[in-house]
Amino acid sequence: MDNKNLKQMAMWGFGLLMLLMLFSSMKTPVVEKEIPYSQFKASLSAGKITEVKVRPDLIRGEYRDDQGKVESFRTLPMNDPNLVGELEAHKVSNFQGEPDRSWMSGLLLNIGGILLFFVLWWFFVIRQVQVGGKQAMSFGRTKAKMMDEKKAKKTTFADVAGCDESKEELSEVVEFLKHPDKFQKLGGKMPRGVLLFGPPGTGKTLLARAVAGEAGVPFFSASASEFVEMFVGVGASRVRDLFEQAKKAAPAVIFIDELDAVGRHRFAGIGGGHDEREQTLNQLLIELDGFEQNQGVILIAATNRPDVIDPALLRPGRFDRQIMVSVPDQKGREAILRVHARTVKMAPDADLSIVARRTPGFAGADLANVINEAALLAARKGKESVELSDLEESIERVMAGPQRRSSVMSEKEKKIVAYHESGHTLVAKMLPGADPVHKVSIVSRGHALGYTLQLPTDDKHLTSRGDILNRLAILLGGRAAEELTFSEITTGAADDLSKATAFATRMVTEFGMSDKVGPLSLKKPEQEIFLGRDMSQGASYSERTAQLVDEEVKRLVTDAQTKAREILTANKKILDDLAQKLFDREVLSGDDIDAILQAAHA
Ligand code: ADP
Ligand code: MG
Ligand code: ZN
Repeated sequence: MDNKNLKQMAMWGFGLLMLLMLFSSMKTPVVEKEIPYSQFKASLSAGKITEVKVRPDLIRGEYRDDQGKVESFRTLPMNDPNLVGELEAHKVSNFQGEPDRSWMSGLLLNIGGILLFFVLWWFFVIRQVQVGGKQAMSFGRTKAKMMDEKKAKKTTFADVAGCDESKEELSEVVEFLKHPDKFQKLGGKMPRGVLLFGPPGTGKTLLARAVAGEAGVPFFSASASEFVEMFVGVGASRVRDLFEQAKKAAPAVIFIDELDAVGRHRFAGIGGGHDEREQTLNQLLIELDGFEQNQGVILIAATNRPDVIDPALLRPGRFDRQIMVSVPDQKGREAILRVHARTVKMAPDADLSIVARRTPGFAGADLANVINEAALLAARKGKESVELSDLEESIERVMAGPQRRSSVMSEKEKKIVAYHESGHTLVAKMLPGADPVHKVSIVSRGHALGYTLQLPTDDKHLTSRGDILNRLAILLGGRAAEELTFSEITTGAADDLSKATAFATRMVTEFGMSDKVGPLSLKKPEQEIFLGRDMSQGASYSERTAQLVDEEVKRLVTDAQTKAREILTANKKILDDLAQKLFDREVLSGDDIDAILQAAHA
């Protein structure tokens, strides 16, 4: 049923109702005088009654009053078996029984009520839906907005900055959308689904739009939260409709935002799944599986919560391409600022690299906001162009404002993280045989505020005791650097410590690498997990051994800490250099690190 039909129906209903109301008002045209039964009988005896209609519940009729005028009357009947005899006796010319029609007026009233209800319903419910979604009553239809690339301003990769890796991965998808036949000829198979994940405001939506823009194909976008709106089954049919539309327009891009709204792990939580969500998710899976390969439709979805996505969605042939869109580093931030400054008049002193340096942790959306706020501030002050002072003020506003969506680091925190990561890096560089450091970064990624990426030079199948001891020292280097520099420790090392403890425990209980404990495997068989600790026969080793294990683990970790401290104390100057560079640049490559170390030794 579409909008027009519905409106028409409502109009009809309304008209009918008016008509009924008119009728019922016309049905009581004569004013009947209500008289007591006694008066009726008296008038009857006086021969004044001319006409009588009798119903079980009502007597109506006409009588001639004192002036000889004919009047209508009504009275309530009484149990009067002689009434007919009397009517005859007094020569009432016309008397008759009357069928009880009261039920009919009752019915009419009811119908009127029902109609009225429908009319009201239409006004309040449907109209609301209409206002909200523009398309009324088309529950099963998708609300997806199709962007006509000719009309809308085309979004391209040039509008997205600071996430070159993500763009590079997506450019393959663009190529496919541009020349599907070329891929077909080569027998190449394209991903059906691409999942973009990353913190809010990092440009996932923008990237998806840019893919369609670059390829010059239609872009259908819908938010998954719209799918799980009202009634069971609606979401599924909207999904179906969305894919149908896109297939008709192929090659095309379908974009589903907030995929986690429907794509959450099924059966998560007590009480099972959410019916509507599950149906919608199933439909989505069906559509994804039903894609003919190379049909020219690509589904791109975005989420901030890749961890809750149902694994079924991530299986090969579904969202088989997963692309991380991360918070930009300093260079990236500068590039994003440039993109947004294109349309704003900037003063010569408005150095965007300064802005980029002062906005660690800002996502693209925050940076767009900085430029926008600065332009507003400048306009309010009646300036000709945006000056550095406006930008600085605007950074503060965005940092404090409610619109800030990503986790922003303060300068102090940034400094601590820089030292922490430098600590890991420096210990790794100073330990002979440790894996080379590939990259160190203080741009937060997921939970981690920073990370040090070590890559082994070749594939290893065996890890020596020395390797693990090195690794322990590197893990403890982060906290050691904080301690050394700030005489204060933070919670930032929690993950390092738990990793270090786990390694040390395995060294002692699994790898037989502790002299005191000896070459024993004290690992518990896996099945015990199901039995629960207390139900199993307890630890398969004695109380004394358990104590020994604890002592050995502690010794290994403490030794590693001592080693890390020694290395960092002996190289404090290099640690400072490294941390400062990292603080400034946020990301350092392996070559950068080598250069800093060389400069220090020179
Ligand atoms: P997400 O979908 O990841 O939450 P959006 O794509 O909706 O983020 O980003 C919101 C706005 O922030 C964009 O419209 C754009 O103006 C700005 N923005 C975000 N990331 C970038 C980026 N990498 N480059 C340029 N602008 C960006
Ligand atoms: Mg978005
Ligand atoms: Zn660490």
